[in-house]
Amino acid sequence: MGQHSSASATRLLGLDGLEVVSAELVGGEWQLDVQTTATVVGCVSCGVRATPHGRRVVRVRDLPIGGRPVVLGWRKRIWRCREPACGVRTWTERVTGIAPRMVLTQRARAEACRRVGKDAHAVAAVARDLGVGWQTVMRAVADHGRPLVDDPTRLEDVAALGLDETSFLKATRLAPTRWVTGLVDLERGRLLDLVGDRTRAAVAGWLGARPAAWLAQVGTVALDPWRGYASALVAPLGHATVVVDHFHAIRLANTVVDQVRRRTQQATLGHRGRKPDPLYRIRKLLLTAAEQLSSRGRGRLRAGLTAGDPDGEVAAAWQGKELLRAVYAAVGTAAARAALDRFYRWSDGVQVPELSRLARTVRAWEAEVLAFHSTKGCSNGPTEAVNLLVKKVKRVGHGFRNFANYRLRLLLHCGVRWQTHRTARLRGRSPRFMA
Ligand SMILES: [Zn+2]
Repeated sequence: MGQHSSASATRLLGLDGLEVVSAELVGGEWQLDVQTTATVVGCVSCGVRATPHGRRVVRVRDLPIGGRPVVLGWRKRIWRCREPACGVRTWTERVTGIAPRMVLTQRARAEACRRVGKDAHAVAAVARDLGVGWQTVMRAVADHGRPLVDDPTRLEDVAALGLDETSFLKATRLAPTRWVTGLVDLERGRLLDLVGDRTRAAVAGWLGARPAAWLAQVGTVALDPWRGYASALVAPLGHATVVVDHFHAIRLANTVVDQVRRRTQQATLGHRGRKPDPLYRIRKLLLTAAEQLSSRGRGRLRAGLTAGDPDGEVAAAWQGKELLRAVYAAVGTAAARAALDRFYRWSDGVQVPELSRLARTVRAWEAEVLAFHSTKGCSNGPTEAVNLLVKKVKRVGHGFRNFANYRLRLLLHCGVRWQTHRTARLRGRSPRFMA
């Protein structure tokens, strides 16, 4: 390789203090021999000019170039101090971009963390692009991600707190579903933390670790009325207004619609819902907000109910769900109160057991349901948005086994603010002149 292309290759590499000596494409990977540019070095101890004492080649992987993995062969210099009075004999040089004994350069590790954390790419995909193993990428994610997640300013200024459960591990033949609770900043739509259970104790433990000043500024807490969370709030957040927000209430109502649909399928067909069954075919339409249905959707919904819901119980549950939605859509507390009465009258009248149970829950939480209208900054949007992000991470990380990794990746994806500047991107540039 000529002098000119070596200089270009060095610019392309862009690693401070290192120049490219040669570049070769081997088995689909770029192999770059690099060395430091420094020629005059003082002793690390006494400062006397050091003399070269040979080299040792260190292999380290860097960001891909033109979509190909890159292996740097760093011809690391060993220096020697000839000053007799100095205690230092020899030492090997260092560069800031490559930490000792690392498989990846610092910027490749940072990029791996950004891709897995911010972009929610699969660890395996990032590992493939870099030409390293899964563990190497996950270690980089942990090393670079933990400081972001542990940054105490991340939790500052929370005025509205949302609690929401999500499954961490689906049930298997041997173990029940494992649940976790997500704590969400409802004003910023950010995940604050994840605790390893959905119990009162798990939430109480997290709240117990917050300073009094932090707790004092939380004015609103939104939660799922079916969980034991509320009692965990009594002591630390007794001053806050508890709200059953839109998101949780509608999720309960949707669950009721699903339950009645399943029971009706079983009763009328003698089996669980299958693809051609009329109610099974409208299962998603049943959960769609009425005003979001197209005229074709409304037609399909009506036809499905006519064919599969002889006693009108599914239709009654659906109507109950829509009436509860109206409570949240109402403008002002008085209108919400009136809408709530319509929901009660309907639920009490139609005598569908699942809907009666929902009405009992709503009655028990009536103040918290109506509080939705008297609190600002407590919309369903944030919890829902965070839940979608959580689903995305779960999809790419299919089958998380390790709660610490799961928490780290969720927080990196929906709990930290990433700087807008990116690490050097080499992928898009053409490496042709290097060949
Ligand atoms: Zn010395």
